[in-house]
Amino acid sequence: KSAAMAGTEPEDETDELAEEIDAKAVLQRELQDQRKTLPVYKYKDELLKAIAEHQIIVVVGETGSGKTTQIPQYLHEAGYTAGGKKIACTQPRRVAAMSVAARVAQEMGVKLGHEVGYSIRFEDCTSEKTAVKYMTDGMLLREFLGEPDLSSYGVVIVDEAHERSISTDILLGLVKDVARFRPDLKLLISSATLNADKFSDFFDMAPVFKIPGRRYKVDIHYTVAPEADYVDAAVATVLQLHVTQPPGDILLFLTGQEEIETVEEILRRRTRGLGTKIAELVICPIYANLPTELQAKIFEPAPPGARKVVLATNIAETSLTIDGISYVVDPGFSKVKSYSPRTGTESLLVQPISKASADQRAGRSGRTGPGKCFRLFTEHSYKEDMEDETVPEIQRSNLASVVLSLKALGINDLVSFDFMDPPPSEGLLRALEDLFALGALNSRGELTKTGRRMAELPLDPMLAKAIVASERHGCSEEMLTVASMLSAGNAVFYRPKDKALIADAARQRFNAGGAGDHVALLNVYTEWEQSGYSAQWCVDHFVQSRTMRRARDVREQLEKLLERVEIERRSCAGDFDAVRKAVTAGFFRNTAQRRRDGFYRTLKTWRTVFVHPSSGLARVDPPPRWVVYHELVETTMEYMRQVTEIKPEWLVEIAPHYYQENNLDTPEPKKAKAPHGQGAAVATEKPSPSLNDFFNVQ
Ligand code: ADP
Ligand code: MG
Repeated sequence: KSAAMAGTEPEDETDELAEEIDAKAVLQRELQDQRKTLPVYKYKDELLKAIAEHQIIVVVGETGSGKTTQIPQYLHEAGYTAGGKKIACTQPRRVAAMSVAARVAQEMGVKLGHEVGYSIRFEDCTSEKTAVKYMTDGMLLREFLGEPDLSSYGVVIVDEAHERSISTDILLGLVKDVARFRPDLKLLISSATLNADKFSDFFDMAPVFKIPGRRYKVDIHYTVAPEADYVDAAVATVLQLHVTQPPGDILLFLTGQEEIETVEEILRRRTRGLGTKIAELVICPIYANLPTELQAKIFEPAPPGARKVVLATNIAETSLTIDGISYVVDPGFSKVKSYSPRTGTESLLVQPISKASADQRAGRSGRTGPGKCFRLFTEHSYKEDMEDETVPEIQRSNLASVVLSLKALGINDLVSFDFMDPPPSEGLLRALEDLFALGALNSRGELTKTGRRMAELPLDPMLAKAIVASERHGCSEEMLTVASMLSAGNAVFYRPKDKALIADAARQRFNAGGAGDHVALLNVYTEWEQSGYSAQWCVDHFVQSRTMRRARDVREQLEKLLERVEIERRSCAGDFDAVRKAVTAGFFRNTAQRRRDGFYRTLKTWRTVFVHPSSGLARVDPPPRWVVYHELVETTMEYMRQVTEIKPEWLVEIAPHYYQENNLDTPEPKKAKAPHGQGAAVATEKPSPSLNDFFNVQ
C-alpha cells in the first residue's frame, strides 16, 4: 500500500464500498426497467393528462398493473408534491401499506420513512420530508380529526376501493365533501374490479380511466363433490400440483393465521418424506400479524429448481401482488366480520367467499402466463350458492367507532351522510345507544367532553372509555398499560408442548389471587418493565417478547395522545380495584353472571357464555359470580376472553343509566333456552377444544 493511502481508508475497504455502490446501481437499473414493464407505464402520460384535467377520476386496473406503486411516483415526479404538499395513498390493510411503502422507497432509492413513508395505527414511519405517504384508510380518517380540509395533501388516492372496508366507505363520503371546497385537491379512486361505474356515479359521474391489463387465460378446475375438510383438500392439492405440474409457483388462500400455521406445518412434514427426486417446496406464509422481517420473503423468487408455495389470507386477493404465480388453490372461504345489532356481538366467521372474490383469486394465476386455478368447491356451488359480491363491511359491522368519529368531525346528522351504501338503520341506532351508554353522547345525540376525548384515542370506544374513566379512578398509568397489552395482540404467552405445565404455572403466577386477566396483563408488563425490557425475562416467563415490544410501542403512542386530551397520568399504586372499576366503566355492557346452574349468562342478552380456557379465571375455584369480559370469541361455544371479576354494585355506581339495583338479579326469562351442557355442545362435531387450540389464535 502506498504512502498516498495514509490517512484514508484501507484500499480493500474502499473496493468493497465501490462494489456495494455498483451493486446498488445495478439493482436500481433493474428496478427502473421493471417499472417500465408494468401495464400502467404505457398510460403514464395519458393518466397524468386526465388527472390534470379532472379533479376526480376513478382508476381501474387489474391487480399487478402498478396502480399502487407507480401512480403516486408519477404524481410526485410530475410536481404534485411541490410546495410541501403530500400524496396520500390509502390501503385497507396494514401489511399492504407497509409492504408497498417499502417497495416504493426501494424503487425511488430512498430510505423508508424519508420521502416515502407509511402510517398505520400505533406506528408512524414518516418524517417532515415525506411526500408520498401510504397509510391505512383508518389513519386518514383519524387525520380528518386534526385537519378537516386535509390541507397538507395535494392528492388523495383512495386505493383498493373495491374492498369497501368500513373506513374506505366513510373516507369516500368525506373526501367527496372536501373536494367540493378544495378545488386544488386531486382525488383518485382506484379499484381492481371492473364495476367502477358505482364509484363514478357516486362521484357525480367522474371519468373512469381504465388500465388495460395483460391477462392470460386461466383454466378453472372444480371439485366434483363438495370437500368435507377444505384444509386437508388444500394440502393434498398443493402436494399433487407440486409433484405433477411444470414449474410455477402456487398460491393457496386460507382464512387466517392459525390455519396458515397448521398447513405450513403439515406441508413441511409431508414434503420431508418426498425424497430427493422431487424439487424443493419453499413455503411462504403471509398474514396480517406476520413479523415485518418475514413479510418480504413472499416476494423473493424461489431458488433455481425449487417451487414456492405462498399460504395467504385474503390479503393476496388484490392488496399484494406476488409475481410468478401459475397455480391458485382456492378453498372458497374467508374470515369475515359479522355483527348482530340485536345482541351487540361482533364475530369473525369463516364464510364462503363471493363470486367476485373467487374470480379475483383465480386471476392471480394468469399474470405472467397462462394459469390454472383449482377451486375446492363445485361448479354448482359457484353458480348457485355464492353471492355475486361481498357485502360491504359497513353493513355488517359494529358502527360505534365510526359514529363516534363522525360525531367528532361535526357530522351530526348521520342519516343524511353521503354513504355509498348506507349501513342498516338498526346498526346506526344501536351505535348511538351504545355511545350514549358510554357517556360519549348526550341525550340529544351530541358529543360530550368524554366523547371528544374518546374519539382522539385510536381504540374501540369501550376501551377508549376505560382510559378516559381511569382518570377518575386514579389509575391512568395502569389502564394505559392494560389497553396497550390488549391492543398488542392475543399472543402474550406461549406454551411449548413439552413444557406446558411449567408454562401454565408461570402464567398463573401473574394471576395470583384470582386477579383477573386485565390485572394479569398489567402484572406482566410491569415486571417486564422492571426487568429493563429484557428479552431473557420473556423467555424465562413464557411471554412472547414480540407482543411485549409491540405493547411498549402502543403505550408510547397512547401516552402522547393522553397528553393531548389532557388526562392526568396517575398511578393507583397497587389498588387493583381502581383498575377493575376503570375496566368496568368501559365494558359494563360485557357483564356476565354465574347462575345457580353454574353457567355464565350475559346480563341483558341472556347468552350462555364460557370463560375462555386461556383465561387465568378458567381454573379459579370457586369461579367468580360477576365478571366483565373484553370480548366474546365464537368457536363451538361462546367464550369470554380477558375476564375480570367485578362487584355488582360497581355496575350501578358506574353505569347507573344502564343498570339499576333492582334489575341486576332478574330471574332468567322463561323463553331462554335451557343451557346445554359443555359435553353435549362439544360432542356435535369437533373434539373438545383444549388450551392448545387457543394459542396463537388471531
Ligand atoms: P396494483 O396496485 O395495480 O395491484 P402494484 O403497484 O401493487 O399493482 O404492483 C406492481 C408490481 O410491483 C407487482 O407486479 C410486483 O412485481 C411489484 N411489487 C409490489 N409490491 C412489491 C413488494 N413489496 N416487493 C416486491 N415487489 C413488489
Ligand atoms: Mg394495489
